[in-house]
Amino acid sequence: MDCIFCKIASKEIPSKIVFENERIIAFEDINPKAPTHILIIPKKHIPYIAEIKKEDIPLVGELIYVARKIAEEKELDKDGYRLVFNNGKNAGQEVFHIHLHLLGGRKFGWPPG
Ligand code: 5GP
Ligand code: ZN
Repeated sequence: MDCIFCKIASKEIPSKIVFENERIIAFEDINPKAPTHILIIPKKHIPYIAEIKKEDIPLVGELIYVARKIAEEKELDKDGYRLVFNNGKNAGQEVFHIHLHLLGGRKFGWPPG
């Protein structure tokens, strides 16, 4: 399958990995939008939020749990951080393999741009 994040998960494409287990891999974003910008993805190919199945609920929950652990390791939890799923055209989703953005190290605006 021609999916860049599947290739990162299989190490076919190199990335700066910050966490990995059997189900999930987290790596630094190649074009960071904040001092810390990490992408947390399931190894399973799920293209959009709408493709999440009931059986994926624990997996999707674990993405958030992994984000929390990385945020704590990087001491982002004191000042706060942002977790984002871009889904579809209006949100600017570019890679069609779901990924949770962990952004930290600066103050973020609200509402988002
Ligand atoms: P989206 O807009 O789909 O939510 O975010 C996709 C993200 O993936 C972007 O922040 C982009 O910089 C990142 N990205 C795209 N291609 C690569 C890549 O080959 N390696 C890494 N590490 N990040 C990538
Ligand atoms: Zn994929």
